[in-house]
Amino acid sequence: MTYDLIIIGSGIAGITAAIYAKRSNLNVLILEKGAPGGLLNKIDTIKNYPGFKEITGSELAAKLFEQINELNVDLKYEEVINIESVGSLKKVETKNNEYITKSILIATGRIPKKLGLNNEDSLYGRGLSTCALCDGNFFKGKDVAVIGGGNSALGEALYLANLVNKVYIIHRRDEFRADSNLISEVINKDNIEIVYNSNVTNINLDKDIVTSITLDSGNIIAVSGVFVYVGFVPGVNFVETMGITNDKGYIITNGYGETKIPGIYAAGDIIDKQIYQLVTAASEGAIAAININNYCKKTMK
Ligand SMILES: Cc1cc2nc3c(=O)[nH]c(=O)nc-3n(C[C@H](O)[C@H](O)[C@H](O)COP(=O)(O)OP(=O)(O)OC[C@H]3O[C@@H](n4cnc5c(N)ncnc54)[C@H](O)[C@@H]3O)c2cc1C
Repeated sequence: MTYDLIIIGSGIAGITAAIYAKRSNLNVLILEKGAPGGLLNKIDTIKNYPGFKEITGSELAAKLFEQINELNVDLKYEEVINIESVGSLKKVETKNNEYITKSILIATGRIPKKLGLNNEDSLYGRGLSTCALCDGNFFKGKDVAVIGGGNSALGEALYLANLVNKVYIIHRRDEFRADSNLISEVINKDNIEIVYNSNVTNINLDKDIVTSITLDSGNIIAVSGVFVYVGFVPGVNFVETMGITNDKGYIITNGYGETKIPGIYAAGDIIDKQIYQLVTAASEGAIAAININNYCKKTMK
């Protein structure tokens, strides 16, 4: 069977594209390696998505999932490992299957950047985390550190501050790069202490459990948990050799969601752009789907 469109990733970009494509009568398949909603499942509260004064990430993910279910969008839980052109069609490979499609939308988002410490990889699950919503509960009543100074770091620090005893925000600059509302909430929160102009040089353990962090100033801060929000890297490697990414690995698209390969589109956090937010990801998904519909109609003639 040949699909009209295969969407890789069911975050808000992929799901929005699926809604538009299905309503245009395209034969759509979504391939997802994790959970529908993508990053939404890791966000506590969203206060800037139109239509919802306040909604949790998992609630919005559930609503999006419900919407594609009602439209009978086909979704399979498989990780895509390769894509390639086969004549005018495309082949999408997962571990166990191959699918043929007229077009592809890559909506695979991005993944958190690491601090770059030697023992970092071995610390996940022992006190180091990139998801306050997933792991915050383990640190109830304890002290934790949040590393970073952008919207994600401050938003998650506020979430943690309502759960734990004290939050230290460790930021490498002398001011935050975040929305001013968030900054003033953080500054006014009693149990958040901000440590500016500092980098973490070590995460210290006792019997394999995080007990403190060492800063480049030499100061040691006792914490049981460390939450890292120091940026992101693109979430795919199967596009690396296709010549459609910039030097940081983000996919380059034009205003239509097109890459330079006809029939391959991209949307959401995986693309090279200025603003990485839910509304921008959703709108890029919609724009790409509308143009994919035109592309499929043209190639069917
Ligand atoms: C802590 C935090 C808080 C945030 N808060 C806000 C906020 O309040 N407001 C706001 O507007 N934005 C917020 N954002 C940003 C927002 O979450 C993202 O911009 C948006 O979710 C990106 O959506 P996406 O669909 O592009 O990617 P994602 O949601 O990352 O979805 C990508 C999907 O692709 C899947 N995938 C990846 N690779 C493969 C593969 N090879 N095969 C199959 N599937 C694959 C992943 O499993 C994932 O489900 C926040 C981000 C973070 C980290």
